[in-house]
Amino acid sequence: MISTKKDIDWSSLGFGYVKTDYRYVSNYKDGKWDEGVLSTDETVTLNESAGVLQYAQTCFEGLKAYTTADGHVVCFRPDLNAERMAQSSARLEMPIFPKERFIDAVVKTVKANLDYVPPYGSGATLYLRPYMFGSNPVIGVKPATEFQFRIFATPVGPYFKGGVKPISLRVPDFDRAAPRGTGHVKAGLNYAMSLHPIVDAHNQGYNENMYLDSATRTKVEETGGANIIFVTKDNKIVTPKSSSILPSITRRSLMYVAKEYLGLETEEREILFEEIKDFKECALCGTAAVLSPVGKVVNKDKEIVYSMEKMGEISKKLYDTLTGIQMGRIEAPAGWIKVID
Ligand SMILES: *Cc1c(COP(=O)(O)O)cnc(C)c1O
Repeated sequence: MISTKKDIDWSSLGFGYVKTDYRYVSNYKDGKWDEGVLSTDETVTLNESAGVLQYAQTCFEGLKAYTTADGHVVCFRPDLNAERMAQSSARLEMPIFPKERFIDAVVKTVKANLDYVPPYGSGATLYLRPYMFGSNPVIGVKPATEFQFRIFATPVGPYFKGGVKPISLRVPDFDRAAPRGTGHVKAGLNYAMSLHPIVDAHNQGYNENMYLDSATRTKVEETGGANIIFVTKDNKIVTPKSSSILPSITRRSLMYVAKEYLGLETEEREILFEEIKDFKECALCGTAAVLSPVGKVVNKDKEIVYSMEKMGEISKKLYDTLTGIQMGRIEAPAGWIKVID
């Protein structure tokens, strides 16, 4: 068979937008979603007073499609992205895009862009971005009544340059999420608030921010776009319990992998910043970050160093097992892998 794959240098891709051929579009009007189409038009035209533009009524998801070792194209746990998007939508007074339709739209988007799914072993994946926004004009503060749901696809490489080289974090004087309990909503409104802290962190030579809880500033929460896990000296995996962090699907999967595949003890609990100096390893986790080792964390004049040289031993095992499951080298738990092609 002749490959129709696009002529892309897969292994040098960064985490950026590359236009692909098709995106999925469905519109909500008069209380219902239309049947949805694949479109070649990457532009969105909106009224100047659209709800998304005036009051940021929008949320999103992120997931990836992979080429497996035996040449299939699969997606990782899209049902959980559908569920989380439904929760984000509800909190933002937007309609639910039904789970079955969400999964169907993911499948259609990937199938329509198969030539952009990076080959097995290239280190790249096809990132999918489902999102929804209020599209009709509003000017009084109220929810829109018309919405658009879209999914686009873009091939991506590693989120942090250098792949699995340890990164540095600093504790900023900012809160991660917009206030009033919106930290568990995956939405641009929280990311908008993180843009200044991330630019500031980069200017000071750090890769990301480690946010503490806004009420007491003593507990570890997460970074701008990824959850955090730690490995204790006796090889237990611990991760922050907090109602204001985004419930990461990668984190849930890693905790399961740690327990069921690696036989490690796991714990979700409040973690004081004070105690993280006693841990052995630290890593960020998320769809984009996968599992990225944290080499050091700086809080004002305090510096905690794990290793700026390489990923910790337990983190490496977690990384290898999770990516092994995603790429089809290791048998997945039932329901984790959605085969697309
Ligand atoms: C998306 C996201 C994560 C990671 O979640 P995954 O489901 O693992 O991709 C973590 N934190 C924030 C703030 C996020 O937006």
